[in-house]
Amino acid sequence: MTIKLPDLPYPANALEPFIGAQTVAFHHGAHECAYVEKINALVQDSALAGEPLERIISITAPKRSRSAIFNNAAQAWNHAFYWRSMSPGAGGAPKGLIGDRINRSFGSYAGFFQAFCAEATGHFGSGWVWLILNHDKLRVIASANADTPIAHGLVPLLTIDVWEHAYYLDYRNRRAEYVTNFLAKLANWSFAESNLLRAAENMAAE
Ligand code: MN
Repeated sequence: MTIKLPDLPYPANALEPFIGAQTVAFHHGAHECAYVEKINALVQDSALAGEPLERIISITAPKRSRSAIFNNAAQAWNHAFYWRSMSPGAGGAPKGLIGDRINRSFGSYAGFFQAFCAEATGHFGSGWVWLILNHDKLRVIASANADTPIAHGLVPLLTIDVWEHAYYLDYRNRRAEYVTNFLAKLANWSFAESNLLRAAENMAAE
């Protein structure tokens, strides 16, 4: 069983005008596809062949000697999560359960917005910014390069890719504008809420 490149959850032009079709098509069809091809090549004929990405990530995360495997597996996983973190016609302040949790954890949606923008615009170099569940509180964290919360036992709810390839064609060096549009126009709160609910079910089952 090889790891497959997941289809995009929407057509490549669905996020326009905030993220262009060319960016989405190249990000998915070239960047993400390359991570998937590399991880398959790296684990071929090894004990990790046939394992799901989550397991490859947790096994290789603590081992510096296996960083090529970790980096490609984590990037493949992070990108699939990123596409689902956005949806056409979404964004803005969330309602319902996830909205309540945002308000409780950050004081208000404005508090969350400020924390997320500060982390995403301030992150130096390539990486990701995540909304995560940490015990019963939501937090915003950044991860460098390929690193991913699931390698650290954290529960991701939503992510933005802040590698330049995610926004450079549309925004050049204006990362803050990309981040603001992600939150205001694209953030898929129903995906974040489904991740929150699944985490609550898993905790109850343990
Ligand atoms: Mn990317």
